[in-house]
Amino acid sequence: MRCVAVAVGAIALALSVSCSGGDGAGAQSLAAADTPTAIAEPALPNAPSAAPTPQADTVPARFTFEGELTQGGWIRGQAPVGTASVRLGDQQLAFDAERHFFAAFDRDAGPEAELVATLQNRRVETTTLTIAPRAWQIERVNVARRSGGSSEAFMKRRRPELARIIAARAIDTGAQGWRQQFIWPVRGRISGRFGSQRIYRGEPGSYHSGIDIAGGDNATFVAPADGVVVLATDRPFSLEGYLLIIDHGNGLNSAFLHNSAILVREGDAVRQGQPIGRIGASGRATGPHLHWGIKWRDARLDPLLFTGPMN
Ligand SMILES: [Zn+2]
Repeated sequence: MRCVAVAVGAIALALSVSCSGGDGAGAQSLAAADTPTAIAEPALPNAPSAAPTPQADTVPARFTFEGELTQGGWIRGQAPVGTASVRLGDQQLAFDAERHFFAAFDRDAGPEAELVATLQNRRVETTTLTIAPRAWQIERVNVARRSGGSSEAFMKRRRPELARIIAARAIDTGAQGWRQQFIWPVRGRISGRFGSQRIYRGEPGSYHSGIDIAGGDNATFVAPADGVVVLATDRPFSLEGYLLIIDHGNGLNSAFLHNSAILVREGDAVRQGQPIGRIGASGRATGPHLHWGIKWRDARLDPLLFTGPMN
């Protein structure tokens, strides 16, 4: 019985609001529904004569986003209505017609980053992101750091390889894979984690720039997201071996190292889940494994934060 009484009361209130407000006030109260005055407004006599409030000043401009707000992580979101430009810190971001954007946080990023939209009406909307630090796997060893690989003979071979890698990563293919939830290229034991680092008698070595998956010699691996092949080497590079790089668009790309074979060609569009190569030990590798690295512009990212754990 009580429920019915409440329901009747609610209906009565709704009717009275509707009657006293009229068409104009009804539309106005919908537009400003989250402001406290909007509720009382229709009860006032002669409410329809009130001047309409410009919507741009009452509807708050906000970013919406999802992602992994941590070192080596990423963010995918939508900028406020009326956005003219978006930046993360001092980096301008690209965004599509619906204002969707992507950005990411380097292994050593943090602890805060500012996401800033400048609107067409010149208003500025700022959201401060807290970038959680990671507890990287650090190993201290009592061995001098190898300076290997810097001889002139090595550099003569290495320079053109680096030039090809840099040129490949600079290609903007317009691929749309950056919008997708990534999948694992292959499943297997994780034999090396992103970000891990050795310190040689106090001198830090370079950190591990990807994730290593011991998925089996010659096992086929697939594209983790849609993309376009921007590098497929026809001979093994000195460190990376047979190297494959897939552009996912918007500055995001995947590199696959140490392959025994590459199954796609430069310029090919690949779909998520499509076989693209076979695991090997080419280049500088102690055994067959897939090294998968992800970069967004200059930031090195943790593939694990794109796929989630490998159950
Ligand atoms: Zn590796």
